[in-house]
Amino acid sequence: MTLVHRKGRPQVCPKGRPQVCPQPGCGKRFYLANHLRRHLGVHSGVREFTCDTCGKSFKRKNHLEVHRRTHTGETPLQ
Ligand SMILES: [Zn+2]
Ligand SMILES: [Zn+2]
Repeated sequence: MTLVHRKGRPQVCPKGRPQVCPQPGCGKRFYLANHLRRHLGVHSGVREFTCDTCGKSFKRKNHLEVHRRTHTGETPLQ
């Protein structure tokens, strides 16, 4: 009495390539382009520093802090 188990189906990649987040340092994968688009909003929110006085936005927190001084009057010598 011999039982032959047929295992070993070839591993095939699932249909539809995963969508990879293009942000450097992230690389999150999503199977739906929709989900990736949603996720991208996270990055645009994180990367921009917006002045809540005038609405100007900066890529670096540093730049925003320097800019804020123009509103608070702590302007360093120029
Ligand atoms: Zn990402
Ligand atoms: Zn401002």
